[in-house]
Amino acid sequence: FQQLSTVDPEIAEVVLGELDRLRGGLQLIASENLTSPAVLAALGSTLTNKYAEGYPGRRYYGGCAEVDRAEELGIARAKDLFGAEHANLQPHSGASANLAAYAALAQPGDTVLAMDLPHGGHLTHGSRVNFSGKWFHPVGYTVRPDTETIDYDEVRDLARAHRPKLIICGATAYPRLIDFARFREIADEVGAYLMVDAAHFVGLVAGGAIPSPVPHADVVTATTHKVLRGPRGGMILCREPLAARIDKAVFPFTQGGPLMHAVAAKAVALREAAQPEFRTYAAQVVTNARALADGLAAEGLRPVSGGTDTHLALLDLRETGVTGAEAEARCEAAGIALNKNAIPYDPQPPLVASGIRVGTPSVTTQGMREGEMGRIAGLIARAVRTDPGAPGGVDTLAGVAREVTELVAAFPAYPR
Ligand code: PLP
Repeated sequence: FQQLSTVDPEIAEVVLGELDRLRGGLQLIASENLTSPAVLAALGSTLTNKYAEGYPGRRYYGGCAEVDRAEELGIARAKDLFGAEHANLQPHSGASANLAAYAALAQPGDTVLAMDLPHGGHLTHGSRVNFSGKWFHPVGYTVRPDTETIDYDEVRDLARAHRPKLIICGATAYPRLIDFARFREIADEVGAYLMVDAAHFVGLVAGGAIPSPVPHADVVTATTHKVLRGPRGGMILCREPLAARIDKAVFPFTQGGPLMHAVAAKAVALREAAQPEFRTYAAQVVTNARALADGLAAEGLRPVSGGTDTHLALLDLRETGVTGAEAEARCEAAGIALNKNAIPYDPQPPLVASGIRVGTPSVTTQGMREGEMGRIAGLIARAVRTDPGAPGGVDTLAGVAREVTELVAAFPAYPR
């Protein structure tokens, strides 16, 4: 760091500022986590220099012996941890992993059945502004209005009616377990591939806190930076017969040279995720998310679907009269980072939204437990209900921010 502050004091200031932000506030963004110093060390290593197009033992560049070892270790760890027949650690991100999976399993113009974005799906699941909606023919399934959980009968009916080439499950803002066996049955019935986008919850699978999609899916795509607590990046797991297609779809079809520092950092994270402490961590992430959802419900913020089985909860704010965008800004002013989120059948446009999404990966990494979740629920509710434009509003938010500072001081992120 000394080097950085000498060469580029402005960027050094940004790095320190971000560290201060992480240390000083509550990080409740469900797709974020706090990587270990070991992961950061691999990410900041000289492996960033290396060109290594291809795969271990089959590279288009010389000098790859060391990076080959990193990638081989990572692949072996991923296969072991998830009981997968094949793993590819090269996707630069979750979206890149999904692009490669589409490329391996479908042709432009093919029908893809996936969860609608406003119901919890991801942009890469058929949004019109994304390759998935432009180059493929997307059909979206929804959640039931009464239970706010996936309507498997609707999924089956849509699959029968549209005969998709590819069915996708796994979402961005869905707090409940997904019945992968049911999706497998539906995919088999119509002769479709089943892709599980485990970006959000793959870390919970790694830690044994929720059931694995690997035995059911043809392909599992994932990110490595969410609950899994690795570097930003993507990963694909698949069955052996699809291995060559997946590898070719990643390189050379959709990507060039792999980011070997990131591949090495993924290997580190996979090793960490195989330790017994990670199992304890993953279980606590879910326990904390339940406690937080219950606490928020007690404060009058309604958890969509009534609660959570995972690391995140989606809160419907309509009864408070506060929009998701307002709630996000109020919480930010109080030192609480979370995001606005559409809720199923949301009457508001996405940039306003009627909900917020909260997640427990980061605060659990910091060592917080159920007691703290109760306290955090109270702080969120106070911030959400405080209009900074009303008399005393700014002071109230500052008061919440002081309590946030006090709370996080006892659970430091990246302790000094
Ligand atoms: N798939 C799902 C379900 C996601 O939630 C996300 C990111 O939030 C992605 C894919 C994309 O990951 P990335 O942001 O790394 O491209």
